Amino acid sequence: MMELTGISASPGIARGKAFLFLEERVSVPRYDISSSQVESEYARFLSALEKASVEVRGLVAGRGGSLFEAQLLMFDDPDLKDRVRASLGNTHRNVEWVFLQIVEEMSNKLAQSDSQYLRERTVDFSDAGNRVLDHLLFTTRIRLSDIREPSVLVTNNLLPSDTLALDRALVLGIAADAGGRTSHTAILARAAEIPAVLGLSDVTRSVHTGDEVIVDGNRGTVIINPDEATRELYEGRRRDWQRSVVVLKELRDLPAETLDGKRLSIEANIEVPQEAEGVLSHGADGIGLFRSEFLFLQPGHFPSEEEQLAAYTSVLKVMKNRSVTIRTLDLGGDKVAPGYHLAPDGNPLLGWRAIRFCLARPEVLKTQLRALLRASVHGSLRIMFPLISGPAELDHIFEIMAEVKLSLTREGLPFKADVPTGIMIEVPSASVTSDILAPRVDFFSLGTNDLIQYTLAVDRGNEKVAYLYEPFHPGVLRLIRMTIDSGHAHGIPVGMCGELAGDPMATVVLLGMGLDSFSMGPIGIPLIKRIIRSVGSLEAEAFVRTLMPMKSGPEIEEAVRGWMEGRREFAAR
Ligand code: PEP
Ligand code: MG
Repeated sequence: MMELTGISASPGIARGKAFLFLEERVSVPRYDISSSQVESEYARFLSALEKASVEVRGLVAGRGGSLFEAQLLMFDDPDLKDRVRASLGNTHRNVEWVFLQIVEEMSNKLAQSDSQYLRERTVDFSDAGNRVLDHLLFTTRIRLSDIREPSVLVTNNLLPSDTLALDRALVLGIAADAGGRTSHTAILARAAEIPAVLGLSDVTRSVHTGDEVIVDGNRGTVIINPDEATRELYEGRRRDWQRSVVVLKELRDLPAETLDGKRLSIEANIEVPQEAEGVLSHGADGIGLFRSEFLFLQPGHFPSEEEQLAAYTSVLKVMKNRSVTIRTLDLGGDKVAPGYHLAPDGNPLLGWRAIRFCLARPEVLKTQLRALLRASVHGSLRIMFPLISGPAELDHIFEIMAEVKLSLTREGLPFKADVPTGIMIEVPSASVTSDILAPRVDFFSLGTNDLIQYTLAVDRGNEKVAYLYEPFHPGVLRLIRMTIDSGHAHGIPVGMCGELAGDPMATVVLLGMGLDSFSMGPIGIPLIKRIIRSVGSLEAEAFVRTLMPMKSGPEIEEAVRGWMEGRREFAAR
């Protein structure tokens, strides 16, 4: 038996057989061949193609068809064979290299196709190509689609698109080498309510597929091959946890109101429209962040205006006039998927992401704004822009917004002219100049995942520097307070949709600073509601006044912990 400690990323306790998945990049060699080798290289290709085809037919037999149809079509495509044959003759390069070039070129074409069906096939095509390459290079690669029975996923890293595609019925829990509490793997695991421990450094070296593994997402521990006593201990903890979830859910229909009658709004963060139903069952007052980029993370697929309109409308209708804040595309940084041909940035988190990408590709933003405005007639929509760093971006956004409104009016398409428009405060410069930005927008929402990352220069997804990721660092708390004060001085509400909003340790601090709304993964809502309902707002303000002069994150955290421990109703953390 072995116990590892990592970062508690998504609550709950899971036990099951491990499925080891390593995301690896196979490097493809390039070398010259002579004319006499062309035929033998081609024969190698045909043999690899045949092996890949047999492999996929086996998967179809095991899991049923349509998922793999496109891959089978590729294996049978006579045109592909002709192209490989011709390219071997023309370039005199080895077949792995020739085949890779052809696959990349064809994937690019598919990704840019006008047909949605073809665009959606990009990922199948790349996957099929990888299978052939694996046979050519004699590499064995495990895929997430190979999970056949309920398992604990043990992995080095997961792309957001991988996490989004996980089958909840098959993935009981996640244990990963990489990732922090605010990484997108963590956010998506919480959204899917899959217990997860990340940042374990080398769990993948300690576990083999088939080992028994316990993932305790509440404590951040992973137990490998537990003995009988440990198994029983965790079974008891799992039952207690489930009971506490049921008790907390009873708060669902009660308002988030402090003991002295201050009403707060507790909202939910969602990634895909299908999550909206669950938001209501967790007792949310609205949606404080719909990360619209996940609609775009289906590999190679930029959704059309009509598809976006349908997605936004469905969320607004489910939420029936409760506030729904939809954030425009925040692609880039760590949110990329295979099939997107965004040029790689040397420093992606400081690079071409979010609003920067949208302003450089205004046709993408215009399509999204058209869809959002057209959806606005179906509910209570707010539009929010990510990663704003200064006023020039606002000028540009408002110019585009005015243009979009004008064209919708000309086309006679209905929309609400006064949809509230707000910005995320997640870059330190925006926080420091929040007094300049506030008069120009209708609301602020603090994105602490990025704000902390940029303030402390700590990559939010890198477990090696996770110890520096301090939400209670005085530098971070001052920026939060400054943002709330500027917003209020200009009469606009200030919310928070970063993970800190759902951290029970932070609730009293944020309440005392005057935050108006808290938005978080739906699973966290009941506990935060309970804390808010057990505190007075004046009491929280007084407590925060004692924290602000403190000199370090650990000192502040200690004081908050002491305060929490003095209140029995908060013991659930
Ligand atoms: C944030 O940065 O806090 C945020 C909510 O946005 P995301 O996590 O999607 O970057
Ligand atoms: Mg962010």
